[in-house]
Amino acid sequence: MNAPADLSADLNLQATARALPKVLLHEHLDGGLRVATLLQLLKQRGLNAPEPDETRLAAWFSANAHAGSLEKYLEGFALTVAAMASPAAMRRVAIEAAQDAHQEGAVLAEFRIAPLLFEAHGVSGEAAVEALLQGLQDSPLPLLKQSGLIVCAMRHLPPSETERAATLALKYRDQGVVGFDLAGPENGFPAGAHKAALQRVLDGGLALTLHAGEADSAERVLEAGRLGARRIGHGVRLVDALNDPAKQDLVAEAQALGLHLEVCPTSNVHTGAARSIASHPITALWQAGVSLSYHTDNRLMSCISHPQEAAELLRHTPLTARDLLAMAQHAARHSFLHEAQRQLALQAIDKAARQGLGFAPN
Ligand SMILES: [Zn+2]
Repeated sequence: MNAPADLSADLNLQATARALPKVLLHEHLDGGLRVATLLQLLKQRGLNAPEPDETRLAAWFSANAHAGSLEKYLEGFALTVAAMASPAAMRRVAIEAAQDAHQEGAVLAEFRIAPLLFEAHGVSGEAAVEALLQGLQDSPLPLLKQSGLIVCAMRHLPPSETERAATLALKYRDQGVVGFDLAGPENGFPAGAHKAALQRVLDGGLALTLHAGEADSAERVLEAGRLGARRIGHGVRLVDALNDPAKQDLVAEAQALGLHLEVCPTSNVHTGAARSIASHPITALWQAGVSLSYHTDNRLMSCISHPQEAAELLRHTPLTARDLLAMAQHAARHSFLHEAQRQLALQAIDKAARQGLGFAPN
């Protein structure tokens, strides 16, 4: 073993991961708080934290992430939603999320959240959306120039709740809400149950991304596409269709629909959707020509940053920096921001690639 050489190679890999320009399409604001911010917000609201200081609270999230249990993983969200339940806290969380993305090389970022979750804590959906939009506007990635907000509905709740979330999203369509999503547990809660609300969102001029094919089957990815989604949150079970001759039409149909997969490798390992980064479906799907990119999903719960996500892929898969750069280009083209912003993001990616990585993009 040549440890110093290995160390040097890994430092180079980490530097490349940091330098890569990034497009962030899939990050939940209530899963992305800084640990210090979460502690402060809990204290301000008079709520108990499971651990009293930053180091131990970070370790608590790490232990839950590695518990191999979706329930453990989701425990953190009850905490973050309660901590964020004031307009001032939400504005702060949105600003900091965009600051972190910007520092990590994001040239464009879309953040998502389910605003109606805050009603249980006395904050209306309107107040939540307005505070989050204000936060993004006041950030280094100002609203609609380099950032936008996706409103989520929860798929395990009745369709009437999705209708309310749709109405809320459409109300802020021209003010920074750029898309609509269905989040929450997938098994047993097909997106088709919410078809009427999803169609209203599309008719109202908002784009659709749906969580699908994370815990359920490849067919769910296509179901989401047929419902009008042009991006799929995760979508990794599409890999099953690659290996099953009876299902190979699904991959061709996904490509014909122009679907783009927002893949979140570390989150998938933590929730059991993938066994490891090395065996993660992202490699096979990319090599099969599926349009996709890599994202953080919940950086607090998964204890991950966007550069760390890139480093993990470079370290454990055959994917190269050139592949990750091409993924950022795919992501920029599939952003829900306006065409002018997508083009600016693509130009920024090209420029950063020429300056920072020592090779020209394809
Ligand atoms: Zn997600």
